[in-house]
Amino acid sequence: MSMQKYIKDFPILKRKVNGKKLVYLDSAATSQKPIQVIKAITDFYMNHNANIHRALHTLSEEATIAYEQAREKVAAFINAESTEEIIFVRNTTEALNFASFGLRDMIKKDDKILTTTMEHHSNLIPWQQLAKMKKAKLDFVDFDKNGYLDMKMFDKKVNDAKIVAVTQASNVLGTINPIKKIAEKAKQSGSIIVVDGAQSVPHMTVDVQELQIDMLGFSGHKMLGPTGIGVLYARKELLEKMQPVLFGSDMIKYVSLSDAEWNDLPYKFEYGTSHIAGAIGLGAAIDYLTQIRMKEIRKHDIELTRYALKKVGKIATIYGPKKAEDRSGLIAFNLANIHPHDIAAILNQDGIAIRSGHHCAMPLHERLKISASARASFYLYNTKKEIDLLLKSLQRVKEIFS
Ligand code: PMP
Repeated sequence: MSMQKYIKDFPILKRKVNGKKLVYLDSAATSQKPIQVIKAITDFYMNHNANIHRALHTLSEEATIAYEQAREKVAAFINAESTEEIIFVRNTTEALNFASFGLRDMIKKDDKILTTTMEHHSNLIPWQQLAKMKKAKLDFVDFDKNGYLDMKMFDKKVNDAKIVAVTQASNVLGTINPIKKIAEKAKQSGSIIVVDGAQSVPHMTVDVQELQIDMLGFSGHKMLGPTGIGVLYARKELLEKMQPVLFGSDMIKYVSLSDAEWNDLPYKFEYGTSHIAGAIGLGAAIDYLTQIRMKEIRKHDIELTRYALKKVGKIATIYGPKKAEDRSGLIAFNLANIHPHDIAAILNQDGIAIRSGHHCAMPLHERLKISASARASFYLYNTKKEIDLLLKSLQRVKEIFS
């Protein structure tokens, strides 16, 4: 497969686990990191480390340039209009919290916030909290038996929604939602469209202008970058109206004893000392992904997912759409009545890393009438051979419990 040549860039994939070659099928939780990203971070700490924006010395200038270059890379990667629209945060969760609480002055009693029943907790709880705080209403669009969003229900409910918050790709069903259609309808209703891009931005081309997204959150660690760095994208006009969520340090322009004036964009939202090395690492991850091309990564995901649906689908119940083209690179499943934690523990004996549990989507699992699922997720460094190993190990699990 054409992605095979990139595997050597990931040092951790040479590791053995329980005497077996590691098969890492947990990239939806966090991806592995190529040597290029590891080196970019090491180089920063070894040669350029200093705080940014605040000093005139050479190291600080170098650090500031590298940090701001990373912002430019992020802006280009999602086709934002300007770097002012790129806020560095810690992760998707922080991005979505900034989105919800940043919008607090724009939400009044009885306003409607519309989300879906397939959200990760990170795109649910911030809206629950905002709704509680403002006595606003929280409403949901459900999904059908094949894991697709009920667009008829969406059409009915979007009319009077102030905010529409939806995931682009479900971390359990794998469903890729029709964001462009959703955003168009949200625009017609005058709603703000907020997208959880945690599972989509690492795996496909996401063009915020083409999709007409108002706000987008994603995490560096799921796209070959380091942990502790993420992005909140928002249209400039919206960021100007929004309130900061955390206060102090870089985010102010002028302070008196009784009040403060916020800094210009994007710094208005970047409190305290930023994760400078993290942003630089994310920039290196974006360089790496761009060089491979997101279209190729998407193709590879589809190929592996199609293969997994066919192979694993023979012995397990897989949730979500049947068509690989409508899914991101993951399968969540249950095997007979065996607890997913038992499955994951036995697979680990074979060196296979998968996730088990509710994957931070409890309401989604309740909606499916299950308490947990096992999840195998793929990225550019995975192969069909690894899916064969997954299947073989799952067959072993079945035998143990039979
Ligand atoms: N949304 C989705 C769809 C996710 O899959 C995840 C990560 N599991 C998140 C949000 C949260 O990401 P993070 O933990 O990096 O904040």
